[in-house]
Amino acid sequence: PTGKCEYDLVVIGGGSGGLACSKEGTKWGLGGTCVNVGCIPKKLMHQAALLGTALKDAKKFGWQIPGSVCHDWATMADAVQNHVRSLNWGHRVQLQDKKVKYLNLRGSLVNEHTVKGLNKAGKEVRLHAFVPGAAEYGITSDDIFWLRKSPGKTLVVGASYVSLECAGFLTGISLDATVMVRSIALRGFDQQIAGLVTDYMEAYGTRFLWKCVPKRVERLASGALQVTWANASTGSEEKDTFDSVLWAVGRAPETKILGLDKLGVKLNSETGKIIVAADESTSVPNIYAFGDIGEGRPELTPTAVKAGKLLARRLAGHSTELMNYDNVPTTVFTPLEYGCMGLSEEEAERRHGKDGIEVYHAFYKPLEFTVADRDASQCYLKVICERGGHQTILGLHFTGPNAGEVTQGFALGIQCGATYSHLLQTVGIHPTCAEEVVKVSITKRSGLDATVTGC
Ligand code: NDP
Repeated sequence: PTGKCEYDLVVIGGGSGGLACSKEGTKWGLGGTCVNVGCIPKKLMHQAALLGTALKDAKKFGWQIPGSVCHDWATMADAVQNHVRSLNWGHRVQLQDKKVKYLNLRGSLVNEHTVKGLNKAGKEVRLHAFVPGAAEYGITSDDIFWLRKSPGKTLVVGASYVSLECAGFLTGISLDATVMVRSIALRGFDQQIAGLVTDYMEAYGTRFLWKCVPKRVERLASGALQVTWANASTGSEEKDTFDSVLWAVGRAPETKILGLDKLGVKLNSETGKIIVAADESTSVPNIYAFGDIGEGRPELTPTAVKAGKLLARRLAGHSTELMNYDNVPTTVFTPLEYGCMGLSEEEAERRHGKDGIEVYHAFYKPLEFTVADRDASQCYLKVICERGGHQTILGLHFTGPNAGEVTQGFALGIQCGATYSHLLQTVGIHPTCAEEVVKVSITKRSGLDATVTGC
């Protein structure tokens, strides 16, 4: 307590960043998107799908599996939801331990020193009803992890992280899943790799409706949802029926209800996100914003956590360190996982010119795919380097098993300024998929076959 204000610091939002900042509140339990409707339930459902694939592989490795293996949505949902509840509780206990007062209120700013909260549990709206029937009959990724019964045959609209990950695990647990793509998949990511990820998904059973835009959703007397869409490739209107329609068309920040306009906090009028400086300050002194709500910031849990911690330390006068938003590694948990760090090939070319970069690449076969007879055509990696000089690594892209683990390891090296020769000096661990990164030697420019042969 400081007299004029009751608290030294008030954090609005109980997501990853808010918790991290308050420890050095929401409509869900504590933990925000990541814990309740994002990373955590998504990774667990992805694991459920991977186990289904492993069961299929297991037969080839000699496991006798009696009868046909089928999946029960309710058992998975119970287990995942119980884990999320345990995390909600854990966060609450940690806040108590750290003497952080948790108020479950909807916050808005009155002035730069005062936050107002409403305790009415108003339903959060993230979706605009741009398609008739979309809001009435659709669900979002906020809902899917909390469904008590299986979504059945599902149409997923959108083609980025959330859409591909959800469609991937639905296919993996043997549901009929279709992705509707209006333009390209994984915008902003390396497009060669995006193609490999969707090729693998198609081969694995996910249906893709390319260049299609939804027009309306109607509920039929049978209870099924009839979706009508425009197909830009054929110029015709097409329709099909589904049990569920999942909208994964991006997330909108709830900045309107915060009351920022009254204080003059500058927003990007298109995205609704808050304009922030390198130190997370907004246009109004004393008000800071970090995490998904900051304009131009990655919508990723670990960046919010780190930014929140660093801000709390700076505000307390313990440090002057700023968040470094360069070289943030990430992984898309599609059936074939895709991990990356740094620039895509397109972006590297844009910044350095086609002749200014060298791309080393390899198509490799994970050892675990061999006996299981799995197609490895999309298991690939590329290392994008500056051409000439030290050949500093500008980007790393890797598809294959455990891509998140592989990418996290190499992220340290790239963060430290690793060059192609550092990579060559690194000894591999055999037999792993990650060792293929330190062995890569074929350049795209050479036109040589990049398929890894032998051990
Ligand atoms: P994004 O904003 O990344 O993508 C939205 C997708 O929806 C795009 O494919 C877009 O297509 C499409 N779309 C938008 N509007 C329409 C429309 N009207 N009709 C049809 N399609 C439409 O959103 P996501 O929800 O996928 O992801 C949000 C963020 O969450 C990401 O930025 C990511 O950082 C984070 N995230 C991270 C994960 C991880 O770390 N593994 C997992 C999941 C999410 P178009 O390209 O044509 O605009």
